[in-house]
Amino acid sequence: MTSTVPKILIVGGGYAGFYTAWKLEKQLRKGEAEVTIVDPLPYMTYQPFLPEVAAGEIEARHVIVGLRRHLKKTRIITARVTGIDHANKVATITPDVGEGWEEAYDQIVVTAGAVSRTFPIPGIADNAIGLKTIEEAVAIRDRILTNFDQASNLPPGPDRDRLLSVVVVGGGFAGIEVFAEVRALASSLLKDYPQLRFEDTHFHLIEAMGRIMPEVSQKTSEWVLKDLAKRGANVHLDTQVTGAVGGNVELSTGEVIPTDLIIWTAGVMANPTVVRGSDLPVEERGRIRTRADLRVGTPEEVVEGAWAAGDVSAVPDLTGKGVGGYCVPNAQHAVRQAKLLAKNLTAVLRGELPKEYIHKNLGAVAGLGLYNGVFQSGDLALKGFVAWVAHRGYHGLAMPSWERKWRVIGDWWHNFWLTRDNVSLQTVQNPRYVFEEFAARPRPAAPEAVDAGAAKAPAAKAPAAKAAARTPAAKAAAAK
Ligand SMILES: Cc1cc2nc3c(=O)[nH]c(=O)nc-3n(C[C@H](O)[C@H](O)[C@H](O)COP(=O)(O)OP(=O)(O)OC[C@H]3O[C@@H](n4cnc5c(N)ncnc54)[C@H](O)[C@@H]3O)c2cc1C
Repeated sequence: MTSTVPKILIVGGGYAGFYTAWKLEKQLRKGEAEVTIVDPLPYMTYQPFLPEVAAGEIEARHVIVGLRRHLKKTRIITARVTGIDHANKVATITPDVGEGWEEAYDQIVVTAGAVSRTFPIPGIADNAIGLKTIEEAVAIRDRILTNFDQASNLPPGPDRDRLLSVVVVGGGFAGIEVFAEVRALASSLLKDYPQLRFEDTHFHLIEAMGRIMPEVSQKTSEWVLKDLAKRGANVHLDTQVTGAVGGNVELSTGEVIPTDLIIWTAGVMANPTVVRGSDLPVEERGRIRTRADLRVGTPEEVVEGAWAAGDVSAVPDLTGKGVGGYCVPNAQHAVRQAKLLAKNLTAVLRGELPKEYIHKNLGAVAGLGLYNGVFQSGDLALKGFVAWVAHRGYHGLAMPSWERKWRVIGDWWHNFWLTRDNVSLQTVQNPRYVFEEFAARPRPAAPEAVDAGAAKAPAAKAPAAKAAARTPAAKAAAAK
């Protein structure tokens, strides 16, 4: 007998998806609905902590929230949704391993977030790195640490300059936070590298507009610029990146910056795989057209059984303050939309009416390196240490679940007494390098005469045989 319990399918287990499932678990009565969440990753990422992970202030694993551990009543599928056929209420699930399948649902919640938005500038796609995932944050941290290790062996000159130069593109919140955090990391490293001086490190932020951080007042953004300048960081306003090839960043001003690390934070766009693969309505900026009650559709027309929230959606901002009339893509909205979405979905299942989403912006708070930050809410602006305390206080408490809060707070506590753990683990990207170098391999098949000789003096021949075993041909033979 097939189940008649309504099936809720959540596409994406990030901020909005995780909170929707978490709240549904609390609100739904037993047997009222079955909830499934699909995400290619087994965790939700607390993205506001990525700059602190890149700066080595928080351990990478502590800023992610395991879906299986925290969503006990939800079915978790680790795979990608590559198509939504809402007309027939099926989603295409594509796992990394094994055959994909069509998953039937009654209600779909699209919370697949956003990805870094880039422009077709030569070299950016191949040489830059974004800051949307935990992997990117860890890679940035390790690259800076490894570059310091390598630069300390080099004499002053262009090669050393390139290793000690960081370019961040985009002066929004995420860009400024990561820029300030990694600048602070680099300054803290210098005590361990007597060969390197502060003047040897070069930090450049490139912003196409005439100001940074549009979320704060002009006056506050100018304070941030002055503060960065005091810390030896260069901010290039009204400037665009025109190329990123051959280890150089070229600017619209004609300036060329040699660098080994380009961090791209110049905007996001709604998840193209999910948006383009669905038959749900999409607005001009590529987001899913969503109503204020978080159902997909327009004020006049509801798409029954479809919901959306977070960065992938265009939800009207009923306070009238949103950019273009819509809620801006941030966690503040994603979490609150998700909580209301769970309530509204439950209400609709019970034959009740959903409520409209309205949230007045609480303000913005950013960490700018250890003991430094900025906070703005309306006309109130806090700067420096007080803002940094507000930043840690707000995000420490906003991290979902006490289990995760303790881990993050524990990292801060340990670093306060023991300082940052400044060691690169870049080699995890090539974990087999030692094993592979010394691993014994089958001897390659050799002509009979050589074979006979080799059999008489195996010890003497061993190194040559080992070297031969490392040739590509021998590796291919061994693999067979
Ligand atoms: C560095 C940084 C700092 C930030 N700081 C702040 C801050 O201080 N305050 C603030 O309010 N906001 C901040 N934000 C923004 C905030 O993190 C995002 O707005 C928020 O994460 C959006 O939530 P979401 O659920 O829409 O998307 P996400 O949290 O990105 O979740 C999307 C999920 O969808 C999954 N997914 C992707 N493709 C598929 C697919 N095909 N099928 C299924 N699942 C898929 C992803 O794996 C991911 O888990 C910051 C962002 C960054 C990058």
